[in-house]
Amino acid sequence: MPEDCIFCQIVAGDIPSRTVYEDDSVLAFLDANPLAPGHTLVIPKAHHERLNDTPADVAGEVLSTVHELVPAVEGAVDAPASTVAFNNGEEAGQEVPHVHAHIVPRFAEDGGRPIHALVTDRPDLSDDELDAIEGDIAAGLE
Ligand code: 5GP
Ligand code: ZN
Repeated sequence: MPEDCIFCQIVAGDIPSRTVYEDDSVLAFLDANPLAPGHTLVIPKAHHERLNDTPADVAGEVLSTVHELVPAVEGAVDAPASTVAFNNGEEAGQEVPHVHAHIVPRFAEDGGRPIHALVTDRPDLSDDELDAIEGDIAAGLE
C-alpha cells in the first residue's frame, strides 16, 4: 500500500473513521467533509487508484456494497434520493487517489444539481463523430 494514501491508512486503522460497513474486501465510512448528512464513501480495502485499475471482481464487490448501502444511507437520514458517483481520475475531481464511490443523500430543494450540471460547455457532436465514438468504445471492449 502507498504509505501516504489516506484511505489505506483508514483501512489499516491508523486514521479513525466512522465505519458503517466492513467485510474482507470492502470498507464504507462517513465522509469527513460531508456534502449532506449521511454522505458515505465505499472503497475496496486494496489500493487501486481508479476504476480503470480495479480488478473486475473487486469493482463488483464495491458496487454490490453500494447497492446494499444506498437504502440504508437514505433511510438513516430520511432522504428521498441520493446521488451516487465516482470522481474517476484527477481531471474528474478525484482528490484521494484510492478508488471510492460517493453516496450523497439528496433532499428536495437542497440546492444540489444533477450530474448533467458537471459540465457547462457541452460538445456539439456530428453524426459522424458520434458514429466514430460509438465504434471506438465498442472496439475498446474487445
Ligand atoms: P474525491 O474528491 O477524491 O472524490 O473525494 C474524496 C473524499 O474523501 C472527500 O469527499 C473528502 O471529504 C473525503 N476525505 C478526505 N480525507 C478523509 C479522511 O481522512 N477521512 C474521511 N472519512 N474522509 C476523507
Ligand atoms: Zn490506498
